[in-house]
Amino acid sequence: MRVAVCSDIHSNIEAFDAVLARAGEEGAEAVWILGDIVGYGADPVAVVDRVRSLPAAVVLGGNHDLAATDRFDVRWFNRIAARAIEWTKTVLDDTTREFLTALQPAGSKGGVILVHGSVVDPAIEYVTNERVAEESFAAASFACCFFGHTHLPTIFTAVADGSVRGAVLGEGESVELRGDRRYMVNPGSVGQPRDGDARASFAMYDTAANRVVLHRVAYDVDAAAGKIRGAGLPDTLADRLAVGR
Ligand code: ZN
Repeated sequence: MRVAVCSDIHSNIEAFDAVLARAGEEGAEAVWILGDIVGYGADPVAVVDRVRSLPAAVVLGGNHDLAATDRFDVRWFNRIAARAIEWTKTVLDDTTREFLTALQPAGSKGGVILVHGSVVDPAIEYVTNERVAEESFAAASFACCFFGHTHLPTIFTAVADGSVRGAVLGEGESVELRGDRRYMVNPGSVGQPRDGDARASFAMYDTAANRVVLHRVAYDVDAAAGKIRGAGLPDTLADRLAVGR
């Protein structure tokens, strides 16, 4: 099966639609979403509607989805993120809120572990280096785990002796998941990339070929940024989309 693995959409419908279109071209038969569907951006309801319309989806909730449904304290957030959550709560309708309320930050599919943050702490912890990744590798016996939360396309590989090494995943990079190694893969962020590349990021996972390919997709950044300004959300949330930071 070919799976499009997406994370951190953050209410950016322009970016998400561009990713779904590319995923379709790449032959995606399912979509796995690693959380942070809402927060930061101006289209939470449209993005949730799109997620709900996907026929074969596994959907996690991230810390922003939990905060938007009163399951995570916004005091953990910086002022701008907290303001976006407060705004998001004012525009959610009942159906959207109910959908988000049911989401959990960890799950699994076909033996693959899916988490928003880390295996150790799926809602909160950022896997940003080998030391943190090592703790997740030790916490469960998976061969492959997909995670999000950092908004950075990365891969951590544990080799037979248990040592872990991390690497950035570049556009078009293709990684064969070997049976004698273990992997933690972050597909980057759909709606708010932070690696200096403004294009939406996602991964295609071919479960039969045991291969992951990272994709970047251009989308209408100006439209998404214009809606953020129009909604009265902090300008920095609009500005950062153009620079991917
Ligand atoms: Zn996020």
